[in-house]
Amino acid sequence: KPRLYSGMQPSADSLQIGNYIGALLQWRDLQGSYDAFFSVVDLHALTVAQDPAALREKTRRTAAQYIAAGIEPSQSTLYVQSHVRAHAELAWILSTITGFGEAGRMTQFKDKSARYGQDATSVGLFTYPVLMAADILLYQTDVVPVGDDQKQHVELTRDLAERFNSRFGEAFVVPMPVIQKETARIYDLQNPTSKMSKSAESDAGVLWMLDDPAKSAKKIMRAVTDNEGSVRFDRENKPGVSNLLTIYAALTGRQIAAIEDEYAGRGYGDFKKGLAEVVVSEFEPVRTRALELLDDPAELDRILAANAERADAVADATLADVYDKVGLLRRV
Ligand code: ATP
Ligand code: MG
Repeated sequence: KPRLYSGMQPSADSLQIGNYIGALLQWRDLQGSYDAFFSVVDLHALTVAQDPAALREKTRRTAAQYIAAGIEPSQSTLYVQSHVRAHAELAWILSTITGFGEAGRMTQFKDKSARYGQDATSVGLFTYPVLMAADILLYQTDVVPVGDDQKQHVELTRDLAERFNSRFGEAFVVPMPVIQKETARIYDLQNPTSKMSKSAESDAGVLWMLDDPAKSAKKIMRAVTDNEGSVRFDRENKPGVSNLLTIYAALTGRQIAAIEDEYAGRGYGDFKKGLAEVVVSEFEPVRTRALELLDDPAELDRILAANAERADAVADATLADVYDKVGLLRRV
């Protein structure tokens, strides 16, 4: 089976609906056809300030949500990034073949550093994409399913793999990104021109997977729309309504046109009520299952440990080859 790699940051207590639509739904569909590795990338989360105790808890919660959303830890390798030491080690090697300017062109860095300001922006945030390249390349990954916000990072990963291979000899498979259609990007409900994020400044426009369903319904009813009053997809002129349509279509598997027809001549209130029902019924069982798993953290930790062992075996083989190729003296 071809290899698949993807991950998410444990940067909040709950994942948001963009993570679910943009990532988890694909992971679930793809896991049967691939040798899949799904990581909770806690080292990545450290690129912005984290409270230590809270980070540990968020890491467990993120893993629980993967499982609750349908990732099978007996079929896929579901593990915590920091449990596999090779990630940090390969990132160092790759950082030595990454151009400063090349890293500086990453738009996620530009966005996040602008948000945090010079002094709160860490070097780790700058080298984030290099660590992500290490994550992917360690596993000889064929495909990387990500939301389109991560496309540029996967491009960099490909560049680094090709550069390493041609400079030192074949060590890495050059991975292909699997990017969902443009419609798979979910936007903030209050600010529908910027993407929904776990680490958004305000969570008024963020739909959390683990939130009380009544709260999510309320957020949907308050979502920003426009004055036109017709349920119609038009990303340019109606970003709010278009975003709600995208969510509706993604969760029901229906065509946007069919949903537009259903709500033709009806107001936004009706449409939002319909969407709230869809969202609540989708997340209710996921939430219940995740909370069950979190009731037994010791069992969850055991699952993660067993999976980390599987990941270690693959990652260590790649790292040893890389160390050899770049000329590090082997410890006998
Ligand atoms: P953070 O704000 O901490 O960066 P995030 O919500 O952007 O969090 P990540 O952990 O960076 O989440 O990304 C996890 C996965 O979810 C990635 O595959 C990413 O492409 C996808 N993703 C994140 N946000 C969205 C979104 N709004 N729409 C679609 N996919 C998304
Ligand atoms: Mg992100």
